[in-house]
Amino acid sequence: MRRLRVVDIGVVPFPPAAHTAAIAYSIGEKAADMVRDAADRKCSWPHGRGVGGSSIINSMIYTRGNRRDYDAWAAAGNPGWSWDEMLPYHIRAERANIRDFDRNGFHGQNGPLSVEDCPFRSKIATTFIESGQLVGYPYLDYNAGDQIGVSFLQANTEQGRRVTSGNAYLYPARKRPN
Ligand SMILES: Cc1cc2nc3c(=O)[nH]c(=O)nc-3n(C[C@H](O)[C@H](O)[C@H](O)COP(=O)(O)OP(=O)(O)OC[C@H]3O[C@@H](n4cnc5c(N)ncnc54)[C@H](O)[C@@H]3O)c2cc1C
Repeated sequence: MRRLRVVDIGVVPFPPAAHTAAIAYSIGEKAADMVRDAADRKCSWPHGRGVGGSSIINSMIYTRGNRRDYDAWAAAGNPGWSWDEMLPYHIRAERANIRDFDRNGFHGQNGPLSVEDCPFRSKIATTFIESGQLVGYPYLDYNAGDQIGVSFLQANTEQGRRVTSGNAYLYPARKRPN
């Protein structure tokens, strides 16, 4: 029997410790250093080191990107990368619980990666969405290929808690024999 060992250079272990961005940000760059670097026309960018990589510190926004970018990658000589070819993989990865869009044909319900609405919608967020619609932008699912419109964020969370590539994919596979 062959065994696969996951080795990461980082220090943050599997959940629950990896659930808070605060822990991981303390591993990244200090805010004061970021300001200094910006003045220097350099840009610092924190990096998650631990099982899950930067998904243990990121902002948890679930965004697939724009259809035209995928199609441009395919056209540049990368077979299989077009939007239409990639969409089934996005859907297969996802376990969506998004109140307005999860049955529109662009989301999956059975994958390992939980995608949810943020558990609350602030008054300012709601007002922003309404204002956008008043000036003519559609209310849309920004993960359905096009993003010219307004929408609430979809998040990589499960019941409000951070989902990482570690706890979505690796943690459940710990007891697999290979
Ligand atoms: C502050 C911040 C906010 C972000 N917000 C979002 C967001 O809201 N939505 C979004 O989609 N994306 C966001 N991103 C981007 C997203 O997190 C990254 O694109 C993604 O995590 C990259 O994944 P990766 O597996 O390619 O690399 P990484 O996540 O960087 O993982 C690399 C892993 O390899 C390990 N490693 C490195 N060298 C070695 C070595 N020599 N030996 C062993 N292990 C090693 C590292 O410790 C790390 O765990 C954000 C990123 C940051 C930093």
